[in-house]
Amino acid sequence: MFELPEFITLSRQINETLTGKIITKGSLGNSPHKFVWYNRTPEEFFTLTQGKIIGQAQAKGKWLFISLEPAYVLVLGECGGKVLFHPSISAIPKKYHLLLAFDDGSAFTATTQMWGAMELYEAGEERNRPYIRGMRPTPVEPEFTREYFEALIEGLASTEKRSAKGLLTQEGLIPGIGNALTQDILFKARLHPRYAIQDLSQEQRKQLFRAIVDTLEEAIRLGGRYDEFDLFNQPGGYQRIMDSHAVGQPCPHCGTAIVKMQYLGGACYFCPQCQQ
Ligand SMILES: [Zn+2]
Repeated sequence: MFELPEFITLSRQINETLTGKIITKGSLGNSPHKFVWYNRTPEEFFTLTQGKIIGQAQAKGKWLFISLEPAYVLVLGECGGKVLFHPSISAIPKKYHLLLAFDDGSAFTATTQMWGAMELYEAGEERNRPYIRGMRPTPVEPEFTREYFEALIEGLASTEKRSAKGLLTQEGLIPGIGNALTQDILFKARLHPRYAIQDLSQEQRKQLFRAIVDTLEEAIRLGGRYDEFDLFNQPGGYQRIMDSHAVGQPCPHCGTAIVKMQYLGGACYFCPQCQQ
């Protein structure tokens, strides 16, 4: 599944490659998939996208917004899979969940792996969509300061029990982070996934904040994770430290074997020595 670095990479590449192209045909795919969330019928999508021009793209959290001018926004969100540019429409994949064909013979397809939103809104209406409306600051925004992070933890810690992994992956508390980057963030912060945020010391909070910001910055700079693909079907350059390949391997810090644990709807990979 894409996380913020992959969506930021896609938005940058769309701005460099697709902006200004004119849509000749928009299609909601040729491969029925019950976990793709559409808000238009195929006929509506075809009619509303025809003749529109690709404007600017931007990412926020796990959402990608592509302006279709005039007056519409294509929204891809909470998805994984492949979002691709094809210099020639003859090279599109056999199965896809969304297609835009352009007047110069090129094309854009999106094919999700598990689930995901592929929706078309009148510009501005997308901001009323659940999960987009009221989205909290993401770690790459200026609002995501140490003070903001402190207040977030204080607020949560005073009302409920929550683990470090829960802080990073649940309820959009820190939008844009998913299970994959969470593993590296917790490793760098030296925290066990189940560590209660109520028990974080000042020093640990500082380390966790730094780990979040640094991990995201690095993954963005490197064009996303190595196990996800960009607009040109190239893997990202960010090598994950803690993933399935790390299990049984020595911890880069202390040499203890890395272990795997199922927790909060996904696999955790961590060092039982460094992350207690
Ligand atoms: Zn270790």
